Amino acid sequence: MEILLSRKGVVKMDIPLFNVAGQYQEIKSEIKRSIEDVLDSGQYIMGKNVQKFEEAVANYLGVKYAIGVASGTDALILSLDALGIGPGDEVITTPFTFFATAECISRLGAKPVFADIDPTTLTVDIDSIENAITPRTKAIIPVHIYGRCADMPKVMELARKHNLFVVEDVCQAMGGDVNGKKLGTWGDAGAFSFFPTKNLGAFGDGGLIATNDDALAEHIRMLRTHGSKEKYHNEIVGYNSRLDEIQAAVLLVKLAYLDKWNDDRRRIAEEYIGLLKELPIQLPQPGVGREHVFHLFTVLTDDRDRLMEFLKSRGIQTGVYYPIPLHLLPVYEELGYKKGSLPISEISCERALSLPMYPGLTEEQISYVAESIADFFDTRYHNLNGMKA
Ligand SMILES: *Cc1c(COP(=O)(O)O)cnc(C)c1O
Repeated sequence: MEILLSRKGVVKMDIPLFNVAGQYQEIKSEIKRSIEDVLDSGQYIMGKNVQKFEEAVANYLGVKYAIGVASGTDALILSLDALGIGPGDEVITTPFTFFATAECISRLGAKPVFADIDPTTLTVDIDSIENAITPRTKAIIPVHIYGRCADMPKVMELARKHNLFVVEDVCQAMGGDVNGKKLGTWGDAGAFSFFPTKNLGAFGDGGLIATNDDALAEHIRMLRTHGSKEKYHNEIVGYNSRLDEIQAAVLLVKLAYLDKWNDDRRRIAEEYIGLLKELPIQLPQPGVGREHVFHLFTVLTDDRDRLMEFLKSRGIQTGVYYPIPLHLLPVYEELGYKKGSLPISEISCERALSLPMYPGLTEEQISYVAESIADFFDTRYHNLNGMKA
C-alpha cells in the first residue's frame, strides 16, 4: 500500500541510516565460504586469515605494518600505550568525536586536553591545538570525523615543531587520503575500527593499527598478546586484544570492495550536495579527491531536532553524531571545562544531523530525502509567514 505525502504526492519510503544487512546480501556466498573455511580449519585465533588480512591492509595503505586488534578503541589504547603515554602526560584531541577517542587517553591514566574544531571541516583546529600545548603534552590525536580528513600536513608540522607523537583516529575514514598518502599513515600510528557500520565493517568488533615504525610495531604486537613475543615468556604487562580469524576472513573479502564502496559514498554525497545546496543548511566540505570518504553525510542546521522529527515522520532515519561534546560529558566534569569553553564544537553538536548514507542508496531514495528536507523548510517558511503550507 502506498502512502501519499504532501501536496506533491510523494510516495512514502522507509530509508534506514545504514544498511549493513543489505551489504551482506550482495556478497553473501563469498562471505559464507570464507567463514566456513575458518570453521573447518579449527584455527580460530591468530591464524592465516589474520596474517593475510594484515598483509593486505599494509599493502592497501602503503604502510610497513598493519596489526589486527580487538576493536578501534583498543587500537587507540595499544598505540598510546606503546608510545609510553601514561600518568602525568597530556594528550590533545577534539571533543567533537566518539567518546573512545578520549577514553583511551584516560584509560592509560593520562589527561585528555580538548582543542576546538574548524567550523567547516569539523576536524581539529590547528591554532586551537597549538594553544593547548603545555610542557606535559606528549601526543595529538587528530580525528578524521565522518570520513573527512583532518589537515594532516599541518598537524604533522606542528607535532614536529613541538616534538609530539601523532596517533590518527581513522575509525571513520578508512580509504581516504591526502595528496595520495592514505589516512592512518601520516602519524606515528593510525587506529582503525571495523565496527559493523564503519566503511569497512566486520560482523562484530575488530580494529587495526597501522605504523611504519619497527620498534612500535613490535611493541604493539607484544601488547596484544599479553606482552609476550613467545608464548608463556611474558616480558611486559599487555592485553588480550586480537582480531579473530572469522572477522579477519570476512574483512579480507570485504577489503576488495572498499574502494568501490567509498566511490559510491562519494557519488551519493555529490548527489545530496547538488539537491540540497539551495537550502538553509550547512553541507559537508568534501575536499578534493579522496579527502572525504563519507562514513556519514552530516549537515548542520539550527532546527536540527524538528528536522529530525519531520524526517522520521517521512520514514527517513537520521542520526546525531554526537549530541554532547566530550568536554561537557559528566565523566569529564573534573577537567573543569564549562559551556562556552569550546564554542565551535558545542554549537556543532547542537546542529549536526546525519542523513542516510550507505553504498547502494539509490537516486530515488536520495531525491526522496532531499525533497523531504526541502518540504520541511518550505513548510517552516510558510508557517513563519502566517500562511498555510
Ligand atoms: C567507532 C569509533 C571508535 C571506536 O571504535 P570501536 O571499534 O567501536 O571500538 C573510535 N573513534 C571514532 C571516531 C569512532 O567512530
